[in-house]
Amino acid sequence: MKEPLLKVEDLSISFTTSQGPVSAVSSATFQVNAAETVCIVGESGSGKSVTSLSIMGLLSKTGKIDKGEIVFKGDKLLKKTKKQMQHIRGNDIAMIFQEPMTSLNPVYTVGDQISEGLRFHRDITKTEAMHQAIELLKMVGIPSPEIRVHEYPHQLSGGMRQRVMIAMALACSPELLIADEPTTALDVTIQAQVLELMKKLKEELGMAILLITHDLGVVADMADRVVVMYAGIVVEEASVWEIFEKPFHPYTLGLLDSMPTIESSGERLRTIKGVIPSPLDFPKGCRFHPRCPFATDQCLHSEPVLENVGNGRRVACWHYQTLQNREVI
Ligand code: ADP
Ligand code: MG
Repeated sequence: MKEPLLKVEDLSISFTTSQGPVSAVSSATFQVNAAETVCIVGESGSGKSVTSLSIMGLLSKTGKIDKGEIVFKGDKLLKKTKKQMQHIRGNDIAMIFQEPMTSLNPVYTVGDQISEGLRFHRDITKTEAMHQAIELLKMVGIPSPEIRVHEYPHQLSGGMRQRVMIAMALACSPELLIADEPTTALDVTIQAQVLELMKKLKEELGMAILLITHDLGVVADMADRVVVMYAGIVVEEASVWEIFEKPFHPYTLGLLDSMPTIESSGERLRTIKGVIPSPLDFPKGCRFHPRCPFATDQCLHSEPVLENVGNGRRVACWHYQTLQNREVI
């Protein structure tokens, strides 16, 4: 079997806070194959961003990897030096964020920023880099790229800034693009355009995408495979078809039930009762049990492990068979 492009294995991450250490991610395991789109989905606070930052080697100083491995093309990333990671970032793995202004520097032109990235990784002249920057802007659908290349980020709309960030990320043709809620801050029409652009570029460039989102609509539109996270734990992993046809984890079912559909528009949506627990106060047993309609005594005391249930499908729930055997109409 072909080696996956990215393997995250048994990854645990914690933060030092004034209230003591808090666990943000516990024993997360998943992989991304070449040219595949994997979506990590889960409510806010489930550990999606922290996981992606740790892959990039960009965890903040108070964060710590307690255990696990991150393996990219057979190479252990956690063993790399700062310098080696700088080389990998942008060149092999690139990342885009929800808010482009956090990655774009307001005092440099769009062209300067794209070419700076190019020249860090490639031995090319300023003129060549500027020329490539224009090509990249064209590729991401920015009109009049020859003019826009000389503009500053504040002169662009939110959607255009997000396109510039994608252009920057793709400058060195990374094999993996990590996108953390890349369209959450955009209005619906622009969001659809940016997602469409990502799909098109993925086809053209053959890269893999690890797309982080809390929005199942985005998952349906983009994913090949889905990793569902809850309170720092991977609770389910399956193909996008399996997830939407028949989720095995009650949390995934809850997420699907609270998704707006054409039929439900106007009605009140069913939401999962309760809120995601704070890492300072994770419940014993299954972390989802206080919100779970299927919970039994076993769930209160004993934490389910992520079990392989066949076909590359995995779920961490004592009662997944109840959902598996359910009639789906
Ligand atoms: P998501 O992206 O799924 O919304 P995050 O990965 O941002 O969630 O956060 C996961 C958990 O880690 C949360 O409980 C959050 O409060 C905690 N966390 C994230 N960053 C820090 C930090 N710098 N210091 C302390 N806790 C943090
Ligand atoms: Mg996040």
